[in-house]
Amino acid sequence: PPYTSAYDCVVLGSGVLGLSIADELTNRGLRVAIVARDLPEDVHSSAFASPWAGANWASFASNPAERRRDITTFRRLGSLAADHPDLVRRTPFVYVWNEGEYDGPWYKDVVYDYRVLPRSSVPPGWTHAVGFTSYTLNPPRYLAHLASSLRSRGVPILRHRVSSLDEAYSLLGPVSLVINATGLGSRTLLGVEDASVHPIRGQTVTVRAPSVVGCFGIKDPQPGGQQCYVIPRPGPEGHVTLGGTFLPNNYSTLPDPDTAERIVKDAYKLCPQLASGSGSGTSRTNSWRDIQIVSHNVGLRPARTGGMRLELENRVLGRVNMEQKDEHAGLVPARGQVGRGREVGCVHAYGIGPAGYQASLGIAEEAADLAVGYLAKIKS
Ligand code: FAD
Repeated sequence: PPYTSAYDCVVLGSGVLGLSIADELTNRGLRVAIVARDLPEDVHSSAFASPWAGANWASFASNPAERRRDITTFRRLGSLAADHPDLVRRTPFVYVWNEGEYDGPWYKDVVYDYRVLPRSSVPPGWTHAVGFTSYTLNPPRYLAHLASSLRSRGVPILRHRVSSLDEAYSLLGPVSLVINATGLGSRTLLGVEDASVHPIRGQTVTVRAPSVVGCFGIKDPQPGGQQCYVIPRPGPEGHVTLGGTFLPNNYSTLPDPDTAERIVKDAYKLCPQLASGSGSGTSRTNSWRDIQIVSHNVGLRPARTGGMRLELENRVLGRVNMEQKDEHAGLVPARGQVGRGREVGCVHAYGIGPAGYQASLGIAEEAADLAVGYLAKIKS
């Protein structure tokens, strides 16, 4: 039918990746619409990962592409911290450990002021520590900021769950390009069905401790998917995220009480100041029981075996991927689907796992390069 779309592309997903990519595309002059099952203001929904992050920049990058994205993000967080200190803050970090040599993380020349701490500055209970300055973010505030900035520039963020990737090419009038930033949704989204996508369950406890301004962590994750970290969130609430767990393929979104107690006790050992409430000092009589709990949380990190998928796929609407045809046996193609047989593009950007915030701005730039390149190619 001879109708046109008001948009150059549709972004599927409004987690930190969908929003960051939409922001970058809008800055480059594209007309964008976002369609998502969970919206940025759904900060209590366990169905997407983004509200549940700590979040800080302490890179896990294991290859040059991941490092490049994390470095880009680190640099851009600097200007965000200057303009929006209630969203992003420059923060001192201390990582401790007990035995063995440690060369330090790969990023010691990226962060500020990296140094091995003298024994006198190592928190009690540990023998070694390094310190540096990096960034922390407040995820719910950061998502709200991205969303309101996009809406103020005329980008709609519409609630809708798509069943198939093809559906997104005709939902708002015909578009030739879709950005797939559906995170864990890419495991079941028809036409993507990526079986290597899986959750990594993270349980945390949010507490109120305005006097805690630094991040603390143990250098190596503990056995059994346990982690121990303390991440203060920028903003007037004085909230601090205590973690946590790192459990691949675990879909449970129920907080486990024993795990919560272990998280709070471990965090108290790392940072006794957590128990000092809104006061500044730490009373010797305080214990982990004095920590003011705000909420118990579980988030599912959208991971992918082998790393995230960030690439352009050329597709034909309505055509079943032959590699997956057995799984589609018995499925009937939608009747009257707009533009069946039309050639389209999809930039996939899902499966970032534990690093969605610290990689977000680098991923957004690369996804936008792919998108702009594809649109230029089909116009020529
Ligand atoms: P998501 O936030 O999951 O968003 C997916 C979007 O796609 C949602 O809008 C969803 O509704 C939508 N969607 C899915 N399926 C469909 C469909 N069929 N139709 C329409 N829409 C659909 N990262 C850091 O960088 N630093 C940290 O310190 C950090 N700490 C973390 C701590 C915890 C406990 C957890 C759980 C995560 C942490 N992370 C951290 C990781 C970070 O939260 C994730 O990497 C990031 O949120 C992933 O964002 P995303 O946009 O890819 O996916």
